[in-house]
Amino acid sequence: MKKKLALACTVCGSRNYTKEVGDKTRTERLEIKKYCRYCKQHTLHRETK
Ligand SMILES: [Zn+2]
Repeated sequence: MKKKLALACTVCGSRNYTKEVGDKTRTERLEIKKYCRYCKQHTLHRETK
């Protein structure tokens, strides 16, 4: 079964991306550097529920 996660900017808190993950591949909290259009720069994004 797949689960949708939102990736939120750790700077402004905006949920800019979603990601589908399987329950079996669940690991630690994801932290990915991605572009935030609100901050207008690459920031660290973290998964939210
Ligand atoms: Zn941001």
